[in-house]
Amino acid sequence: MEKVIIIRYCELYLKGKNRGFFERQFAINIERALKGLRHELRRRSGRYLVEAFDAQEIDEIVNRLKKVFGIHTLSVALKVKSDMDNIYHAAEQVAPQSGTFKVETHRADKTFPLNSMQISAEIGGRLLDKFSGLSVDVHEPQNTVFVDVREDGTSLVFGSFIKGADGMPVGSAGKGLLLISGGIDSPVAGHMIAKRGMAIECVHFHSYPYTNLQAKEKVIKLASILSEYTCGTTVNVVKVTHIQEEIHKKCNGEYMVTLLRRFMMRIAERVAKSRGAQCIITGESLGQVASQTIEGMASSNSVIEDLPVLRPLCGFDKNEIIARSKEIGTYDTSILPYEDCCTVFLPKHPVTRPKIEDVLAEEAKLDVEALISEAMQTLEVVEL
Ligand code: ATP
Ligand code: MG
Repeated sequence: MEKVIIIRYCELYLKGKNRGFFERQFAINIERALKGLRHELRRRSGRYLVEAFDAQEIDEIVNRLKKVFGIHTLSVALKVKSDMDNIYHAAEQVAPQSGTFKVETHRADKTFPLNSMQISAEIGGRLLDKFSGLSVDVHEPQNTVFVDVREDGTSLVFGSFIKGADGMPVGSAGKGLLLISGGIDSPVAGHMIAKRGMAIECVHFHSYPYTNLQAKEKVIKLASILSEYTCGTTVNVVKVTHIQEEIHKKCNGEYMVTLLRRFMMRIAERVAKSRGAQCIITGESLGQVASQTIEGMASSNSVIEDLPVLRPLCGFDKNEIIARSKEIGTYDTSILPYEDCCTVFLPKHPVTRPKIEDVLAEEAKLDVEALISEAMQTLEVVEL
């Protein structure tokens, strides 16, 4: 009797001709997630099995698999040669010893001498004899023992389904560049887009020495938590201190955030193109703060030449974003109290609904191209 992990996937089957491509990417991502842990991954009629692992690493394997997009559910199962005694002995280990239960059998091997009803009835009966605290409830059992008699002469016996991350395999839907700050929102935005199969790189802007090095470390930490879902990532770190100083010196302070955002977008588009990313992703949410009005978004969007800008959180309330960040494990890091560059030189009254002609008039006081080139020279790439 061997312990194995069953991986069931979602949505892949929708993709007709591309199915092979999706499945290959999916398998690559699973292998990557399990790197460093002894195991064998096998594909078996519509699902994958992880086998030959060390028993004490099973929780680690399951925890890593829970972050692989494309996995719908997982089960830890016992694998036996298909034979009623073997199946029963496995069921004995999986079954509860009291309460209500039923046995549910799926029989792919039509040569097996009993049909699925007969298998369930016999295994159920033997379990009832063995555990006096058990009773059968076929409609609403507290527990179910699942028996899967497969075509290859083996059977899988298991008692539960573990929820997977769902979504599509990362890498099956191109690559995007996430503007990541140290806040709560942007890691959640990256997670949402990765869930739809997009590989993610990150760009982070800092204004050292106004912001400290811990602020940068915090962002790297957030990106590394995100990277567990995105099959790795990189953080492109860019210094924008000189841009903020120049805006502070030459422009109306109320436009600090609006102007800085336009620089961030321009630099992000260049970084995206140089890294082969096909879109820009931000954690903006409509109306959340002064700079996130539709006018603010229009102003920062208008400097983008041709890449789409995805704002997956636009329709989310802060509470919903916080709940997601707790789920994915970034929240505790996000709330650490280090300053983001946007809080440096922050005016008392930032414009909330910038008129584009006013923005352009303020921006005309700056040598935009020179400031961007200088920023690009500070680019540092951290691989995670
Ligand atoms: P977050 O929680 O993601 O920081 P926020 O609610 O604090 O978002 P803003 O600070 O207005 O909102 O930022 C909006 C978006 O702009 C962020 O979600 C992020 O995508 C991008 N952004 C802000 N600051 C930075 C930065 N220093 N580096 C990279 N991107 C940034
Ligand atoms: Mg922020």
